[in-house]
Amino acid sequence: MRTYSLPTKISALLFDMDGTLYTNPAYAQSQIDLPIKRLAVLQGKSFEQMQAEIAEFRAKFATSLGNVFLAFGVSIEESIRWREELYEPTKSLCHDSRLRETLIRLSTSRKLALVTNNPTLVAQKTLTALGVDDRIFSVIVGLDTCKVSKPHTAPFLKAVELLGVPCSECVSIGDRFDIDIAVPLSLGMGGIIVNGVEDVYSLP
Ligand SMILES: [Mg+2]
Repeated sequence: MRTYSLPTKISALLFDMDGTLYTNPAYAQSQIDLPIKRLAVLQGKSFEQMQAEIAEFRAKFATSLGNVFLAFGVSIEESIRWREELYEPTKSLCHDSRLRETLIRLSTSRKLALVTNNPTLVAQKTLTALGVDDRIFSVIVGLDTCKVSKPHTAPFLKAVELLGVPCSECVSIGDRFDIDIAVPLSLGMGGIIVNGVEDVYSLP
């Protein structure tokens, strides 16, 4: 865990979801592989060929998966639909009572928001799979909310607007600096990089 510019008054915590609220490398990898498989079929290529093309693109441009697919001709709307159809968090994730208790504890003194590059439907299914009541988050911003992925400023600003809290009193928490932390810092928030859910347990 590493912290960046934590404010003295913290009124809200903006959580990333994947790789932050759970640690499951196999499920994380499947979220990349499943849409690549679908794209390969659509473009008449082998999975391996499609995977290599996407890996080459990602080596050049470090960006979100949604933006990678956009560059390969898959609109954000289509990306949202694919993820809603392909991702099944309940098959890969299980109830995490320690996470639930951690979030309940944090929510007693601060507002919580979930800001994810997955669609809100997938976010809700993921929280259900983890045994976390989605009402613990005052705000859920997904890919379908702003139709752009983090690290765009829009999802963060939307969350802050819905929370009704100034950026200077927010902390963004996630597992990827470029996606979850850099932009919030530029907006005046604090940031915390976690190495998975194990670090989240220690946040209170
Ligand atoms: Mg993440």
